[in-house]
Amino acid sequence: MPEAVTPGLVCAHHHLYSALARGMPAPPATPTDLLSILGQIWWRLDAALDLDIIEWSAKLGALEALECGTTAIIDHHESPNAIEGSLDVIAAACAEVGVRTSLCYGVTDRWNDHGTLDLDGLRRSMPRSTVLVGTAGMTDGARRGLAENERFLRAGGRGYVGVHAAFTCTDATLEAAAGLAAELGTGVHVHLHEGPDDAGAADRLTPLSTDRWLLAHCVHLPDDHPIRGTISHQPRSNLNNAVGYARPARFEPSHRVVLGTDGIGADMLEEFRIAYVAQRNDDVTTGPEPAWRWLTDGARLIPEVANDRVTWNYAPMEPWHLAFTPGVRARRVERDGQVLLEDGRPALVDAEEIRARAVEAAGRLFARL
Ligand SMILES: [Zn+2]
Repeated sequence: MPEAVTPGLVCAHHHLYSALARGMPAPPATPTDLLSILGQIWWRLDAALDLDIIEWSAKLGALEALECGTTAIIDHHESPNAIEGSLDVIAAACAEVGVRTSLCYGVTDRWNDHGTLDLDGLRRSMPRSTVLVGTAGMTDGARRGLAENERFLRAGGRGYVGVHAAFTCTDATLEAAAGLAAELGTGVHVHLHEGPDDAGAADRLTPLSTDRWLLAHCVHLPDDHPIRGTISHQPRSNLNNAVGYARPARFEPSHRVVLGTDGIGADMLEEFRIAYVAQRNDDVTTGPEPAWRWLTDGARLIPEVANDRVTWNYAPMEPWHLAFTPGVRARRVERDGQVLLEDGRPALVDAEEIRARAVEAAGRLFARL
C-alpha cells in the first residue's frame, strides 16, 4: 500500500469539551437560530461540565486528533461551573496522549453574578449588539475566567487569552482581556461574527486587536475590515449552524486564514475537503489549493509541528488527490522523534480505556442535562 509522510496537522479552533456531546439528550425545544443553538445546547452543556468530565472529554478529543494525524490543537474552553484549574486538566490530558496544545478559557459576561444564564439580558442587548444592558464593568464569571487564563499562562502554559464573543461581553471585559494578552505577549482567541447576533463586534474589537489575535469564523465580518489577527475558518460548523458561508478567500492576503473544526472532532483532512467543497459551491472555478493553504498554514501558529512526522495510509498527500479521497488515516505519528501512534494505535495511552471512561463520563454529563 502506498504511504506518504508529512508534518503534523493543526486544528486551529477546537472545543475539546464538546467531544462527549455526540448523542446528548435533545434540547427542550428545537433551536431555530445560532443564539438558540448556543443557549439550548452549548451553554447548557458547558454549564454541566466538571473537571472529571473535562478530563475524559479532552483525552478522547486528543486521541481522535492523533488518529487523524493532527498533532496540535488550539482549544477554546468554557466550563462556568468548573473554571479554576480547567486549563491544567486539558493540558495534562492532551500531554498524556502526546498532542501539542494552545489553550484558553473563553471569558464571558453572559452569566449574571448569581451564576445563571442571562439570556434575557443578551436578547435585550442584541438589537444594538454593543454591551450587555444592565451590566456595568465585569461580571464575577468574567473575572474568574480571566483569572484562569492569567494563572495558566503565567505558570508557563501555552495559549491565548480567551473571549467567548464580543456580544456576550461588556466593554470592560474586552478591554481587560486584550490588556492581559498584551501584557503576557500573546493574543486573544475569540469568536467573531459567527452569526448575525455578533454584528458590530469587529468595530468594538478592532482598536484592541493585534496580529497575534485568533479570530474564529468571521462569517459576517465585512470585507476589508481593519481588525488584526489570523482568521480561523470552520466550514462544517458553519454549515451545521446555518450561519452562512464565510468566503474566507476575501480576507486574503491581508489576513492569514487557517482551518478549525469548532469541536466536531479534529480530522483536518476532512475539514479541508469540506472547506474545498464549500468554496466550490460558492465559486465553481476554484480549485482545492486555497483550502490546502488554509490547512497547512495552521503550522504558522504551532511551528513545532514541522518536527512531527505523520505517515499516512495514502499517497500522494496532495490537494487534488485529497479533495476527493475520504478515509485517509495516520498510520504512524512521531513527535520530536517519539512515537505517538504505531499501526494506527496510540503508543502512550490505552485507546480502549479512554473510550470506555469517556462513555462513563458522557453518561454522567447526559444525566445532568
Ligand atoms: Zn467555536
